[in-house]
Amino acid sequence: MNAAFRSLFLALLWLCSGLAGAGQVLVQGVSLTRMQPGVRVTFELGRRVEHRVFRLSAPERLVVDLSGARLRGRLPRPDVPLVRRIRDGLRGERDWRLVLDLKTRVKVKSYWRKGAGTQRLIVEAVPLKAAGRAHPRPTPVKQVPTRRGRDLVIVIDAGHGGRDAGAKGPHGVMEKDVTLAITRRMARLVDAAPGMRAVLTRKGDYYLGLRQRIARARKAGADLFVSIHANSYPRDRRVEGAAVYVLSHRGASSEAARWLAQTENDADLVGGVDLDSKDDVLASVLLDLSQGATMESSRRVAGYLLRNLRRVCKVHKRRIQHAGFVVLKAPDIPSVLVETAFISNPREESRLTEAHFQQRLARALFRGVRAYFREHPPAGTWMAQHSPRRHVIARGETLSTIARQYRVSLNALRHVNRLSTDLVRVGQVLTIPEG
Ligand SMILES: [Zn+2]
Repeated sequence: MNAAFRSLFLALLWLCSGLAGAGQVLVQGVSLTRMQPGVRVTFELGRRVEHRVFRLSAPERLVVDLSGARLRGRLPRPDVPLVRRIRDGLRGERDWRLVLDLKTRVKVKSYWRKGAGTQRLIVEAVPLKAAGRAHPRPTPVKQVPTRRGRDLVIVIDAGHGGRDAGAKGPHGVMEKDVTLAITRRMARLVDAAPGMRAVLTRKGDYYLGLRQRIARARKAGADLFVSIHANSYPRDRRVEGAAVYVLSHRGASSEAARWLAQTENDADLVGGVDLDSKDDVLASVLLDLSQGATMESSRRVAGYLLRNLRRVCKVHKRRIQHAGFVVLKAPDIPSVLVETAFISNPREESRLTEAHFQQRLARALFRGVRAYFREHPPAGTWMAQHSPRRHVIARGETLSTIARQYRVSLNALRHVNRLSTDLVRVGQVLTIPEG
């Protein structure tokens, strides 16, 4: 670029940033103030804009959408007791969204005030308990999910890519290509399943660092991270079969320290415990606990994957393997690594390139993931709303009282439980069909 062009370019750039796009309004400041109890969020704007304020639950969030607005400057620190985290983003072409992650359910109201040469949008959130209840709430007979639960986010990671080709087979097949093909197939299956959504860490043949992969998974809000690879053992080309890995304790403990250093302010990692205010020892214990739960989930998922793989291919190791792979080290996301086959084995190398075999692997992995989440659905997800409910029969209950309680038909109840008579006994477990 020559000098004249450069200055023109810079001038244009300046103009664009100054105007913030045609018809857009700059949010000149956002501030949080502590209320007793609750929080007040104040937005300073050049003029009033269309806005929307609403809450979301599981986790509790307060969302403010400002139409045609852009933020200038930074978000405030979330140092108000009720607020766990503050973040923002663009919604579509025009709208700006602010999200507060909250520690409890709130009641919200919003109103405009005239500021000094500005317009102020004020949003107040008060904890529900403190908001006071003129009338006691009616006792809910049962929880009826009114809003559709969120989708599970399955992050699928194609091993290697770009200049990192991974292992190479005797006939030149590259690990990076087969892993991408399998992840794409698996993603299609996940996306087609209700209540699940796939996110690929890489969508093409390019290099991606291991920690970038974890970062992408965290950004996507992953419920699970599955890394797909192909094994290699050139010294003995007969070695074959799949294996599933989870993080080893050794890898976990050193990494916990690393994460701790990097993210001491990120309370999200330990489920909302504010690490900042705790001393280092306590903080590392908290992080360990958080990772302990994640590792337990990882091991469970790995078990489901292994069982499903065994139906479609040979397995090299019949048990779950433990290793210190970097990609498995996100302390807050259950993570597994799958070695689908041995690319160093000429027969498996060729099968890995076959659409049919790739699809079989992808389906086995997808089924394993789905089976795991059906049994262990996180709260607030569509899967949690639709996983089979169970009812243990208590004294005095009959089939028809149970049918009424869950608002299902007596026939449906009989049918799913394969009952030939309406006699039930105390302690008997019934599956409750969807209403
Ligand atoms: Zn690999």
